Amino acid sequence: MYINAEKAGKYLEEKWGAATCPMCKCDKLVLSLPVYEINEYGVPAEAHRTAVMPLIAVMCDNCGLVLHVNAIAAGIVNEEK
Ligand SMILES: [Zn+2]
Repeated sequence: MYINAEKAGKYLEEKWGAATCPMCKCDKLVLSLPVYEINEYGVPAEAHRTAVMPLIAVMCDNCGLVLHVNAIAAGIVNEEK
């Protein structure tokens, strides 16, 4: 799943504002457009629909540090029912 670039830009502007990278202190943070997911550890692959956390990646374009944000809590994707 991808989010659109406009939504990604709005999220970064509203939630991160003038934030800087915690490692190199530069302000070149970019948001990934694909939404990734983490599956619950120890659950067989065929049963992975039990616990999935959708994540977006905020990456520092200078040093490469990647931070993950829960996409549902951030309001970027809707929770599946
Ligand atoms: Zn950095």
